[in-house]
Amino acid sequence: MQHNPDNITIALSKGRILKETLPLFAAAGIEPLEDISESRKLIFETTQPGVQFIVIRATDVPTYVEYGVADLGVSGKDVLMEHGAEEMYELLDLNIARCRLMTARLVDAPAVRGRLKVATKFVRIAKQYFSEQGRQVDLIKLYGGMELAPIMKLADCIVDIVDTGNTLKANGLIAEEHIADISSRLIASRLALKLKDERIQPIVDRLSNAVTQSN
Ligand code: AMP
Repeated sequence: MQHNPDNITIALSKGRILKETLPLFAAAGIEPLEDISESRKLIFETTQPGVQFIVIRATDVPTYVEYGVADLGVSGKDVLMEHGAEEMYELLDLNIARCRLMTARLVDAPAVRGRLKVATKFVRIAKQYFSEQGRQVDLIKLYGGMELAPIMKLADCIVDIVDTGNTLKANGLIAEEHIADISSRLIASRLALKLKDERIQPIVDRLSNAVTQSN
């Protein structure tokens, strides 16, 4: 399939966010022409001619949008905070995939003397959070399964996403400090807002109505 740069391209995050995102777009009149979950394709035509979805890893969505290759994108606030938000605008809080970004430690962890060792995939967010508090920490970058780090004594605590808290509990950890409330956001590239605003604005308005109606 060819990519047509005159199309409106909307970058969606694979996985759990997608399930909550598609109903909002459907309510806004934009539905994929085939079942995304049943396909290995990455580009999908939609019921709205000239509007296409690309379905990619959550952490890649801001990259496609900041380079103006995708005009719009749906991305978790955690991903946006970690990526940095140059060259793009956050247009809407979609109020889906809500969770919290928190620090967590072992339930029976002893008090830490000296520098705190923090394991996380959110290195940028953690660095900013602890430095704003004037706390010096050693950050250890991991890509998943953060809960294991305190158990294995790789770190004293973690910074991670907490929804129900079940994952922490199952691993003997407890959430401690609240860093940020997270939900998915509609983002737009600066370039797209400059060049395709007339076609983008109606989509944003319809999504905004869909969000209001779903609350
Ligand atoms: P829970 O056990 O319900 O607290 O879920 C915790 C795990 O699910 C985290 O480690 C995350 O990897 C993942 N998770 C939960 N909610 C979200 C979300 N909204 N966005 C991304 N990951 C999430």
